[in-house]
Formats: sequence, structure tokens, C-alpha cells
Amino acid sequence: MQQDRAPRDGPQRPDAGRTVQAGSAMTSMRRACEAVFLGMATTLTIAAGAYAQQNTDATGACAREAAPYWQPLVPGVWVRPGLAQDIGAHNGGQVASQLLIGQGNSATLVDPGPSLAQGLAARRAARCELGLAITRVLDSHAHAENVLGNAAFEAEQVRLEALPETRAAMAARCPKCLAAMVQALGAEPMAGTRIVLPQPSLQAGQDWDSDAGAWQALEFRWAHTESDLALWNERHRLLVAPGLVYHERLPELAQGSVVGWIAALETLRSLRPDWVVGNLPLAATGPQAVDGLGQTHRYLCSLSRAVLGALDSGRSVTEVQQIGLPAYAGWAGYAQRNGFNVQRAWRELEPLWIRDAVPACELPE
Ligand SMILES: [Zn+2]
Repeated sequence: MQQDRAPRDGPQRPDAGRTVQAGSAMTSMRRACEAVFLGMATTLTIAAGAYAQQNTDATGACAREAAPYWQPLVPGVWVRPGLAQDIGAHNGGQVASQLLIGQGNSATLVDPGPSLAQGLAARRAARCELGLAITRVLDSHAHAENVLGNAAFEAEQVRLEALPETRAAMAARCPKCLAAMVQALGAEPMAGTRIVLPQPSLQAGQDWDSDAGAWQALEFRWAHTESDLALWNERHRLLVAPGLVYHERLPELAQGSVVGWIAALETLRSLRPDWVVGNLPLAATGPQAVDGLGQTHRYLCSLSRAVLGALDSGRSVTEVQQIGLPAYAGWAGYAQRNGFNVQRAWRELEPLWIRDAVPACELPE
């Protein structure tokens, strides 16, 4: 079992000091998405403002940048770290990590980002910094900040792919989510962004080769969203789980299931990864290790336990938004989203609680 490590200049634990509390725009967006859902059942050294502006030259010309867009993670894999912030005009919606996987002179991009501009920036930087042409784009799950950048990859030679459920959820929700994203970021950063649906050709269990070794596609249904893609690279023990692992940003439960998400994390934990790419790229071993899987798991367990405790004590649904989880109050999005997550967990757990059928959630060590 190969245990390659990242080059010395690879990403390290992101700087918690960059956390910025955003306004209520993101909450509005999630609630817009939620309404549709209910209808159908490293170290970063770039300031957020500069981050949003980098590599956005629509002409595609290679310009000298203050810092590279793509950071090496393991040989043949690069990452564009997300920001541990909630979505807002100050960060251009770049809160989700993007991944680039090299295959000779071409590359697969995992998540094109929140806008046409971001997709173009990723494509241009792959070419200018690494000499790689992006020929395949994988949409990890149906959230605007991950997939609206598809608009930059409509060319015939680029394969846009997603799991079938993700494609279906994008078709249902993207119109409202695009409108909400324009409201959150403003018209200019979203200029030219339009909904481009992927082919539903990705399947759980599929694998393919790359310069970094083999990748396997994993699917988790009803975890963070209806369908979440994760990718596993055994050679580097690298797990890519874009929607499933959060660090320093409060998990988004609006389209998900707290029970399903906890079960997904237990499965992912059994892989024992050395690297985990969620909203941020994290080393899971070594002196700068961050247990992103464990942190997300712990939040969801704490959320579940708090809701069950309130049900046991006879509190009413109108009181649930008062349930706080102060251990996470420092995470981006806590003020905007924790009450909503509690409400959502309550709605899911109450019927299970009545039947005494809530699965146990063991807090990870
Ligand atoms: Zn998401």
C-alpha cells in the first residue's frame, strides 16, 4: 500500500482567522431550495476579495497571477481550496473546494464552482499553470456553489457528468438556486452564468485511472443532499467528499438527512483516509492533521442528541430554534443556519422518536 505524501508546498490547515460571517443571503437561498425540495419530498494566503477576482480574464489569456490557482495535493492532483465562509458578495461564492485530476495532457475537474467566471478561471488556470486541458467535469451534488460553473464547459469535447439523482435534483432546483445566487453575489460576478445540466452517466462503483492512480466513484443517497458523490483514491488514501465533510463552516442540512449523513460518515471513516477534501482540503494524518470526518460527524451527532433531548423533555416545535450548539458557534454560518438545521433535524427525527427508531449516534473519539 503506497503512502505517498503531498509535496512540502501542498495545502496545509486553512487559516481559521479568515472566517467571515455573511449576511442572510445564503439562508434565503437554502430556504428557496428547501421550498422546492419539500415540494418533491493549507494555508491560504489570498484575501477573499483578491480570491474572487483571480484568473477571471474572460479572454482566456495567461496572465501572471499573484498566487497560483491550483495547489498541489498529491502527485497528479491539485486543489483549489474553498473558503471557510458562508456564501456572500465578499467571496464570490467560492466556499467549496475544487479538485483537478491529471490524465496525461488532460484533466478531470471535480466541481466547476458557483459561476461561469469561476469555471472559466479553473479552466484557464489548468491550462496556464499546469498545461492541462479539462476534458471532463464531475458535478458532486446539486448545490449552486458546486455546479453552476458548468456554463464554462459547454464545448463538445468536455464531458459534463453527474450521478442520475444529482442531475435530476439540478433540473428541479437549479433555476431557484441560480436566482438566489445572483441575489447573494450580485449580477456582475454571476454574469453569463446559466444552467447547464450534466449527463447522468456517472454510476456508483465506476472506476477509472489517472496519473494519480485509480479512482472509485461512491454514492451516498439522502446524506448531505439527495445524492452525494465521493471519490476514493486508494494509492494516496485520498477521499474527496465535497458535500459531506465540513470544517469551520456549519454543515448544510437543507436538502439532506441527519440520519443518512451520519451513516455516510461512518462508511467513509472506515476507509481510513490520509487526505480528505470536503469544503476544505485536510490532512487526516501527520502533525497538522484535522479530523474533518470526525468534526462533521460530531456536529451531526450533537444536533441529533439535542433534538432528541428536547423531544424527551416535551419541548414544542416552536421552541426548537432556541436549541443552541455553542461548541460550533465559531463556525461560519452558525448564526444563519443552526436554528434551521435544528428545525430540519426535528422534522426528520420526531417520527422516528415516536417509534423509538432513531439510530444510535456514537460521538467519534
Ligand atoms: Zn452542498
